[in-house]
Amino acid sequence: MNAIAPQVSSISALASVEELDRALRDASPAEVIAAAVKTVGREKLALVSSFGTESATLLKVMADVDPAIPVVFLDTGWLFEETLAYRDTLIAALGLKDVRSIKPAEETLSREDPDRDLWFSDPDACCRIRKVEPLARALQPFDAWLNGRKRFQGNARADIPVVEIDGARLKFNPFANVSREELEAIFVRAKLPRHPLAASGFLSVGCMPCTSRTAEGEDARAGRWRGRSKTECGIHTMKIS
Ligand code: SF4
Repeated sequence: MNAIAPQVSSISALASVEELDRALRDASPAEVIAAAVKTVGREKLALVSSFGTESATLLKVMADVDPAIPVVFLDTGWLFEETLAYRDTLIAALGLKDVRSIKPAEETLSREDPDRDLWFSDPDACCRIRKVEPLARALQPFDAWLNGRKRFQGNARADIPVVEIDGARLKFNPFANVSREELEAIFVRAKLPRHPLAASGFLSVGCMPCTSRTAEGEDARAGRWRGRSKTECGIHTMKIS
């Protein structure tokens, strides 16, 4: 295992992460994933996927590098049936060997969201108990994680690096540099199945109460938390230790 992975809080480790980010700045997504495997080892690396409308592309690139890299999927209890079905479709289509569906703790749900209306009264708290905390638990065994954020998505994602520190572990963003056109090319080239809701106007799919269709010309993520200032669920903006 590379020395920069597990405890990334020292100044020398910070320098190493910056070096790694610099070295991978122009690398292809497959090269970034291969570098992540080389840095921490497959058993210590996880890909976090929502199995949303663009997820098939990163999962395809990962499967070409190594289909046994663990994939963490947050089943929040509010997902569309279509997303759960799509997860199973992609597992079969791509030969994914280790997809782990993670659920929120039942006792936390009973205590903090007994009526299932927290998404309305306090969506940040809802995302914390249904996404951020379960992900923090799921990532405990890992030293690094992969995710599918792109700079072209804008807002907090507009200037993400390829490699960064996220609390106690490394975070690799293999798609930081890719364009929407390149994603589409991966879909077409690999004949990837589409999310079942994409055809009916959902350009970005999350939890049912917080997802709406996007109108012509709107940003792809405009349908998420519509009418609120919220643009991120917190798994990328809160440090996960
Ligand atoms: S996206 Fe909505 S329903 Fe899902 S965890 Fe966040 S607030 Fe709750």
